[in-house]
Amino acid sequence: LSHLLERGRTFFPHSEIVSRNPDKSLHRYTYADFYERTCRLANALTRLGVKPGDRVATLSWNHYRHLEVYYGVPCMGAVVHTLNLRLHPNDLGYIARHAEDSVLVVDRSLLPLYEKFKDAVPGIRHVIVVPDSGPAPEGTLDYEALLAAESPRYDFPELDENSASMLCYTSGTTGNPKGVLYSHRSTVLHALACCMTDVTGMREVDAVLPVVPMFHAAAWGLVFDAVLTGAKLVFPGPHLDPPSLLDLMAAEKVTMAGGVPTIWIGILALLDQSPGKWDLSSMRSMLIGGSAAPPALIEGFRQRHGLEVVHAWGMTEMSPVGTMAKVKGPTRQAAPETQASARASQGFALPFVETRVAADDGTLLPWDGETMGELEVRGPWVASSYFSDEGADRFTKDGWFKTGDVVTIDKHGYVRICDRSKDVIKSGGEWISSVALENALMAHPAVLEAAVFAAKHPKWDERPLAAVALKEGQRVTKEELTTHLAGQFAKMWLPDDYVFVPQVPRTSTGKFLKTKLREEYGDHLM
Ligand code: ATP
Ligand code: MG
Repeated sequence: LSHLLERGRTFFPHSEIVSRNPDKSLHRYTYADFYERTCRLANALTRLGVKPGDRVATLSWNHYRHLEVYYGVPCMGAVVHTLNLRLHPNDLGYIARHAEDSVLVVDRSLLPLYEKFKDAVPGIRHVIVVPDSGPAPEGTLDYEALLAAESPRYDFPELDENSASMLCYTSGTTGNPKGVLYSHRSTVLHALACCMTDVTGMREVDAVLPVVPMFHAAAWGLVFDAVLTGAKLVFPGPHLDPPSLLDLMAAEKVTMAGGVPTIWIGILALLDQSPGKWDLSSMRSMLIGGSAAPPALIEGFRQRHGLEVVHAWGMTEMSPVGTMAKVKGPTRQAAPETQASARASQGFALPFVETRVAADDGTLLPWDGETMGELEVRGPWVASSYFSDEGADRFTKDGWFKTGDVVTIDKHGYVRICDRSKDVIKSGGEWISSVALENALMAHPAVLEAAVFAAKHPKWDERPLAAVALKEGQRVTKEELTTHLAGQFAKMWLPDDYVFVPQVPRTSTGKFLKTKLREEYGDHLM
């Protein structure tokens, strides 16, 4: 990673980094300034006694100082551990303790959150406060004061490329969050593959906006790719609401942005309300991934606003990207057949990532676009274990990782995520994709969101049940929903019943919490 940093200073010293402050003013500086401040940070951490391999945690929004930590910490040999600031303090305490974090870099505005789990992490020796909303309180160190006292040059140590660079925990959708360690090698190779022309095709002229919070591995792709290519980076600060994001995209002529579906759903609704209010003609691609993106969302951007949304599939264990559809631009893959499958899928594997589909008993299944099985992956940036002993059975000796996602792959290699193996409904030997049913339900004009999950059934073992939240002022009967689905699915796929809920429970990263739904309604059909 220090190579990327040096490269940025040498070849792209004038590339810009723009970052929105909490008061909405903009902080602007160049790659050359970024380099110097990152060196100052590395010097400061060395002086504080941070040793190679130590974990330095962050509790921070998306801003330029977080970027400095992303580079400064691994370049001096330590490991950045990004903490998810949307988690409950109890979970944060568990994760920071489990990771044995010894230093914390925290936004001033997030100190009250740290206070709530502080007692659970006595191992934290230094708290460095990013002064986003006032001075650092007593007993803590001020980020700016630390940097001001140091030299803007740093003698980067020669590190083993396999040494750890970053640490991130999974979202905890299906159980306890699991820690994933990344190496300098995996981080850099992932960035290289993502930048290859046919994937993101990122270049120096791009302006890149990571919307997805930087505590999530999903943001790393964009952040590391940008420094590799010399692209302009645009950070939203704590302002992740749709109007603020659209203002920033238009003002900074953003060409690429990446986020989870929930963010894009809000942005599309706003664009539909005020079409033409924002000039988004600079946008080349909006990357969407992290959970299932309803096709109605992707088509809505395309058809009503002429914006191309690129679908990607990833996992924390994948650093994060595994497959990606092609970004807008000239293509030789003009065959209508491949274009259509590209839009209906999560794209194909990044270079150097191998994919295969396996049945429950491990038999490999054909790439026919229809047969569902568990996706297994292998590649240079696929995790080889968790940061503890758990989940060891998901990693095979020859490097394959069992993703826990149920997919089909077609003959061109396009991967379609159908479900998670824990969510797929196994009804009398047949597999029913909860995601396909959800997408169809969400295309109904009265439905705001719908989550389909398995309920226990005396005869069929499991049957689909749907939790449906309606749009304000809308009404619909169960029979109408069944009629709506009946045209698209075989009879045995149709949900046995519907429960109407004010909203579907979600995780901190915006995914449906089906464990909770199963707990509550799992016996509904018994
Ligand atoms: P945990 O592993 O702790 O239960 P998690 O799997 O939600 O939580 P992440 O690593 O954040 O943690 O998410 C990865 C998962 O998100 C994938 O395994 C997949 O199920 C889902 N996912 C990611 N991208 C997509 C996508 N484009 N479409 C559908 N699902 C996706
Ligand atoms: Mg997972």
